[in-house]
Amino acid sequence: MYGEISEDITIPVGETLKIYDENTGRARDLKIEGIDNGSNEVHAKYLDTGEEVDLNLGAPDEINIDDYKITKEPYYLPVKEYHKVVDGNQVDVNELDVLMDAYAVKKPMMLKGPTGCGKTRLIEHFCFKTDQPMFYAIGNEDLSSNDLIGRYIVKGDEIKWQDGPLTLAARYGGVFYLDEIAEARKDVLSKVNEATDHQRKITLEKKGGEIVHAAEDFYFVSAYNPGYQRAQLKPSLQQRFMAVDIDYARDMKSPQAELETQIVAHEGNVAMKDSQMLVEIGVFTRKMKELKEGAGTRTLIATAELMGQGYAFHDACQMGIVSVITEPLPDYSDVREAIMRQVDVIDGQYNRGEVAQEPEAEAEAQQ
Ligand code: ADP
Repeated sequence: MYGEISEDITIPVGETLKIYDENTGRARDLKIEGIDNGSNEVHAKYLDTGEEVDLNLGAPDEINIDDYKITKEPYYLPVKEYHKVVDGNQVDVNELDVLMDAYAVKKPMMLKGPTGCGKTRLIEHFCFKTDQPMFYAIGNEDLSSNDLIGRYIVKGDEIKWQDGPLTLAARYGGVFYLDEIAEARKDVLSKVNEATDHQRKITLEKKGGEIVHAAEDFYFVSAYNPGYQRAQLKPSLQQRFMAVDIDYARDMKSPQAELETQIVAHEGNVAMKDSQMLVEIGVFTRKMKELKEGAGTRTLIATAELMGQGYAFHDACQMGIVSVITEPLPDYSDVREAIMRQVDVIDGQYNRGEVAQEPEAEAEAQQ
């Protein structure tokens, strides 16, 4: 299915636009000096070189929204439990159901949780289930509102508008996921304000003020890590969202204790025994006060992959976990030593058969 292309190809005369010049492969400031309405020819000047150019104003490229859809079901194990009443009966639901309910009424969602705990995977799974295209950006000091909204690009002697991911999601319908929202710049957050407002519109200031009224399926999701992010979100922004706390799929005391082991075994393609050992190290590091963050599920999966390549547990943990999560502590840090000592303890326990494996874990490990 091809999206509808805006007929409106306005360009703001007198303004300086930050365009992307495909001819030179860099961003440049282009001052729009005039436009010939009959021929759609734009007279402009590059501010870096002073070069004057005549460019043809072209229509935006056609977008195939299906290109942004996730075609293979992403593996996701739900980790949370909520309860709700349906037709007078109490039913158990998980974070995916909660997301579906929020999506039904288009209430923007904020996922909170540590690095690598499955926030992005949850959204990918959700987009697959709802057959929605997924658009994505990560908040940091380099991400500008233009990156979200779009910009003019110059190719050959043509200048044309290119929608950014937020505009694409709003114009054609789809999920826009802003990761690390607390790291986003003010200009980005002001666009987030607009996009999450009940009016559901996005103004393209740089495109002559075009207003994109969001399609029915437009849905805004964001994520952040309350543990380390320096900036705090303003309550006025935070309260536009409903929030779900996601944590590692394991809590020693929870009945879901083996969930993370299943995930690491599946994603890292290792036996359940190896996965159990890795998760034990992960849990150990998460309790260390000296670290900003312990090893997340992603880090454990990467370490499992090292084991899959034939590295022993000790070496895989050294490279995959310790060297990764103890930055920027010095080489001789006690923290590194303490983790490696624990690695050897776990290694010894499991290899001497002192730790029982889950019955289903044994079955899976033998497959
Ligand atoms: P983040 O919270 O930083 O967005 P990701 O979603 O990228 O983390 O998770 C990192 C990896 O951990 C995923 O690619 C996936 O392999 C795995 N993972 C974490 N949680 C889950 C889960 N609940 N179900 C399946 N895979 C998971």
